[in-house]
Amino acid sequence: MHTVYAAADPIEAEILRSYLAEHGIVVQIFGAGIWGGRGDLPVDAWPRLVLDDASQLDDARELLRRYEHRRHAQASWPCSCGERSPIHFEICWACGSERPPA
Ligand SMILES: [Zn+2]
Repeated sequence: MHTVYAAADPIEAEILRSYLAEHGIVVQIFGAGIWGGRGDLPVDAWPRLVLDDASQLDDARELLRRYEHRRHAQASWPCSCGERSPIHFEICWACGSERPPA
């Protein structure tokens, strides 16, 4: 069993489980059951996607990498210098230009 991803929340975990299943990769979600408990969860209590078949590890990682890339693209803004900054940055991390108006 290999943990291939720690999701931000149970919803993301379920989205990713379906996404991988569409590509023939079966994962189980661990840790989601204790989500939303008493507010004193340990930091490592994120829902985890766990792969049954180790031979699919590379494929699973590649698919998840693509997912993260897309998510990153949505959560960032492009600067005229060609770099992208996280959406909560007011100025470009690379060149210091101000974020263009949305
Ligand atoms: Zn820039």
